Amino acid sequence: MRGKTDNGRRWYQEVDPELAYTLVRESAAVVVNRHTIRRIYGNKEFKRMILARDNNTCYFCGQFGDTIDHLLPRSKGGHTTPVNCVCACNECNQSKANTDLDEFLLAFE
Ligand SMILES: [Zn+2]
Repeated sequence: MRGKTDNGRRWYQEVDPELAYTLVRESAAVVVNRHTIRRIYGNKEFKRMILARDNNTCYFCGQFGDTIDHLLPRSKGGHTTPVNCVCACNECNQSKANTDLDEFLLAFE
């Protein structure tokens, strides 16, 4: 699978078909053709969208949050999709040892 970022930069990361399917199903990407998907959101837009959806409220403790976290850590097979990501405060985010958001986002660069 291949994709393009929406600012026109080509994105040649190979993704496995299951992830591609998940991204499309959760409306994070659209199918361009049989071999290419295109992500709808850039990393910043994605983060903004999750925070807006959750009203900047930490999923774990209910305090104000401005970071996003994965419900199922990527190390355990979770993907960076709208369904798997929630708003989290700094404290809760950092207390989750398996989660490294920067690493997740870099995986999409
Ligand atoms: Zn919290």
